[in-house]
Amino acid sequence: MSGAANPDVIVVGAGVIGIASAHYLSQAGLSVTVIDQGTIGGACSQGNCGYICPSHVLPLTEPGAVGMALKSLFNPAAPFRVRPRLDPAFWHWMWQFARRCNHQQMLLAGAHLKAILDSSMDEYRRLIREEALDCEWKENGLLYVLRTGRGMREFSHTVRLLSDHFGVVAHRLDGAELPAFDPALRCDLAGAFHYPLDASLRPDRLSAAWSQRLVARGVTFLEHCRVEGIARSQGRVRGLTTSQGLLVAERYLFALGGWSPRLAADLQCPIPIEQGKGYSVTMRRPQPCPQYPLLFPEHRVGVSPFEGGFRLGSMMEFAGFDTTIPPRRIQQLYEAAEPYLVSPRGDGPEETWYGWRPMTWDSLPIIGPTPRLENAFLATGHNMLGMSLATATGRLIAELMEGKTPHIDPEPYSPGRFL
Ligand SMILES: Cc1cc2nc3c(=O)[nH]c(=O)nc-3n(C[C@H](O)[C@H](O)[C@H](O)COP(=O)(O)OP(=O)(O)OC[C@H]3O[C@@H](n4cnc5c(N)ncnc54)[C@H](O)[C@@H]3O)c2cc1C
Repeated sequence: MSGAANPDVIVVGAGVIGIASAHYLSQAGLSVTVIDQGTIGGACSQGNCGYICPSHVLPLTEPGAVGMALKSLFNPAAPFRVRPRLDPAFWHWMWQFARRCNHQQMLLAGAHLKAILDSSMDEYRRLIREEALDCEWKENGLLYVLRTGRGMREFSHTVRLLSDHFGVVAHRLDGAELPAFDPALRCDLAGAFHYPLDASLRPDRLSAAWSQRLVARGVTFLEHCRVEGIARSQGRVRGLTTSQGLLVAERYLFALGGWSPRLAADLQCPIPIEQGKGYSVTMRRPQPCPQYPLLFPEHRVGVSPFEGGFRLGSMMEFAGFDTTIPPRRIQQLYEAAEPYLVSPRGDGPEETWYGWRPMTWDSLPIIGPTPRLENAFLATGHNMLGMSLATATGRLIAELMEGKTPHIDPEPYSPGRFL
């Protein structure tokens, strides 16, 4: 460990949100220590699909989400699944989520997401240009592939909504055009929509390259350092009790992802986050390997082609802090990819993974000062978009901590909205 003994800022959580925040805080001239109970980028920011997708404006709180959740109670194989449990906080979360599943709220959340998605994309471009991070950054868009005519018709509504309300425009491709567009796609598909302004990267390489760059700039990373308690007095955090002793700083940022509610009482602030568990399997590249990152909306599966590998990822399970990886979930990923890909499976060993997406009931992240502790900040609740939103989150946190005029309106993401 290098750097200041009592840094200006301790960032708790070395996921993509903690790393991005450390970047902007350090750029602002502050000394920063990042701590994590595990390893750098080793939790939800590791095995995800790596899409940086300004096209993902529409939140999970959409009309129809409640029906899907109810049906899933009786279908353990559903890609979107709620496993109920006897916990009042869980039912409160579900109730608040259900209340927002309507057209008007969807558009409102979409507008707030768009602001931070667009800013994040600009910041990523700058980051890649200035830092040249070795993370397989690619700007060839994201291809939504539909298997059936019905799927095409239904997805066309989403495409129109995105274009009419948010100015996010896709190019339509007919089924016959697909094998030439990406030879890894089968020839019997109905069609696709290409969102050319999306990008992608390899998440684990981003965390590794970015944290190494920050270490070279004097940021300290402490792995296997778990925050167990927060010492407070007179409306301020005085220190963190950790598995490696007491740590003290001027200010504290909690970027705890799916674990965030565990420190809510200590932070004297409601943090209504449920763990939205997803799975992925990573293997060698199949032949042919897709050239584009792909999404199959009818099966809710994503495909990420990397330089040295190939990943299938999906599922949204509300099952609390569940750490299992049922083999049938991995099998489902392969089965879902089969109707779309000439070769859905690469040879050799496969790496299975799960991650807890930090899900808020209004689909918006939680970014800003905590309402009752003046030197404690939150950057969490990034739902399905933590990779996509990391850079603007980091920039916003640095601006808010430094008392600078924020580059986007922070109000929609304020932790105080849950009081
Ligand atoms: C299958 C799947 C696919 C996805 N695909 C995409 C995608 O394509 N694009 C996209 O934008 N997003 C995607 N996501 C979502 C994205 O992965 C998350 O939103 C993002 O990783 C959240 O980052 P985070 O830093 O908040 O959380 P994490 O990466 O989970 O980091 C939180 C960190 O806090 C640490 N921590 C927790 N408690 C403590 C404690 N008490 N003391 C110390 N440390 C602690 C944890 O160890 C962890 O490292 C996907 C998610 C899944 C599951």
